[in-house]
Amino acid sequence: MDKYLRRVLFVDLTRKRFWVEEREDLFEEWMGGVGVATQLYREVVPKDADPLGPENAIILAVGPFVGYYPMASKTVAVFKSPLTGNWGESHCGGRSAIALRFAGYGAVVITGSSDVPVYLVITRRRVIFKDARALWGMSSAITVGRIIRENIPGAGLRTIIRIGKAGERLVRYACAITETYRHFGRLGLGAVMGAKKLKAIAIIGSRIKLPVKDARKYREMYDKIFKLAIESPLMKKYHELGTAMNVLPLNELRALPTRNLKAAQFEGAEKLSGEFIAQNYLGRRVACSHCPVACIHIAVWREPYEEEPYFYKTVHTPYDYEPIYALGTMLGISDTLGMLRLMSVVDVLGLDAISTGVVLAWATEALEKGLVSEKETIVKLEWGNWQNYIEAVRYIVEQPNEFYEALARGVEFAASKYGGQDFALAFGGVEMPGYHTGPAAYINYLLGSRHSHLDMAGYSYDQKLIGKPLPPPEKMVDNLVEEECWRQVLSSLVVCFFARRIYTPELISEAFEPLGWTWTPEELRNLGRRIYAKKYSLKLRDGFDIDRLRIPKRIFETETPHGKLSGKYLRKALEYFKRKIVAMISTYS
Ligand code: SF4
Repeated sequence: MDKYLRRVLFVDLTRKRFWVEEREDLFEEWMGGVGVATQLYREVVPKDADPLGPENAIILAVGPFVGYYPMASKTVAVFKSPLTGNWGESHCGGRSAIALRFAGYGAVVITGSSDVPVYLVITRRRVIFKDARALWGMSSAITVGRIIRENIPGAGLRTIIRIGKAGERLVRYACAITETYRHFGRLGLGAVMGAKKLKAIAIIGSRIKLPVKDARKYREMYDKIFKLAIESPLMKKYHELGTAMNVLPLNELRALPTRNLKAAQFEGAEKLSGEFIAQNYLGRRVACSHCPVACIHIAVWREPYEEEPYFYKTVHTPYDYEPIYALGTMLGISDTLGMLRLMSVVDVLGLDAISTGVVLAWATEALEKGLVSEKETIVKLEWGNWQNYIEAVRYIVEQPNEFYEALARGVEFAASKYGGQDFALAFGGVEMPGYHTGPAAYINYLLGSRHSHLDMAGYSYDQKLIGKPLPPPEKMVDNLVEEECWRQVLSSLVVCFFARRIYTPELISEAFEPLGWTWTPEELRNLGRRIYAKKYSLKLRDGFDIDRLRIPKRIFETETPHGKLSGKYLRKALEYFKRKIVAMISTYS
């Protein structure tokens, strides 16, 4: 292992102190990324820590392949989630991983909370605590990034992770943004930063030489991975259309959640498709550092200034399948530009797009059904009315009344207060991703360690099963858990999941050799199980209770490509998982 990876930087925001510990032990045993972050979380975050209190920590970690191989481009963030009260984990690309690695750290642990807003500047030799009072309250997280960028050196190997107003106002699903177009989304990292009065984390890498044991083998290995990445037909698709390529196939399958999942097929899907947006709005594609794929798609359009005829600003907004589902089909919006405008507002305020869309969809139906009135919603929430949704998004951040305060705490909380739990689409407290593909997707949302479709890829498993009989629930759970275990290895290397078919156990093992590190395929698989068991034991420690999981009735009402879901099948799967996870924790943890 190189001498940089094992360095862990600790930052105490309360006392404005920092120090570095050499933690070869952690990286030797747990490799890096999520494996190491899980151990650090166990060490520093006490069981009863308040997610918005100083005892919660933000742990950022990268892995051994960063700087060596293509697509090892992610940074893993681990924290206690203010949305669920238990395990919080989020992954982000951009330049975050390369900056942290070249700043000479394998991980950063930030604890405490500042008395005044600050931003951190992290370099190889020191941490500077900068006054951020002038940045606090700024309307756009994008502008915040620009201002910090002007004030610090290091373009190219630099990342600026910052929050918008949503994080400052503690919206429980606020995200953190890096490099303008990438996000630490879902479980509320933005709110944790906001509670710590931490406006941004700038990390500046410097030119360090990463050692190689066998230079010739390393070059061969590098070329092999690079070639696999650029020649893969799937990667070509990611480059051409990005994940937005999924809109039409999912619509065709009747698996695209529409109007709060009252339906799974949207009549306006064509105009929200990757193909249509690319033809009409695609301005450019960008890549995370050290990635030849460049799957990040940016829509560009002109926006007139109010009261200034013939004066326009150019707006750039990243788009993906998930925000299209959440802020498009879920809200019945088929006006492409209207959806992009809504996306842009969600983005600059620093909200998680999926959660925001699902929360608004529930609120729209709650208004329709008379559970709340326009007195609470202030604006008329109605399917397709993107202008009013933009206003509502601003209210979620500003929280002018109790209703919007509730929406800022997520759909689980809002429905517990106002009713409508049957159609409140949260699983384990987290708003649902955009796949109504069948039972595997829902088992995944309910039981995945972060309730993300990326945990177990249940949506993909469902699609492979179309036209075949479903396996017994026990077998389905076994397969999904095996997938989640393997993904712990990828997330410890911090390899992008889009490259999961390239980075097989055999290839990873081979790629370690020229770096002078040995991991056999079997050791890798075992590592995945150990991390998973450790992580889940912490999730349970922090209060996650499988017996208290709520399953919204709505998912049984709308047909999936496998027909109507069976409650009995899902309950059997949950019961089996409960026994399985206990056994796994006692074996591997
Ligand atoms: S495929 Fe996309 S998300 Fe993955 S590393 Fe490349 S640019 Fe980033």
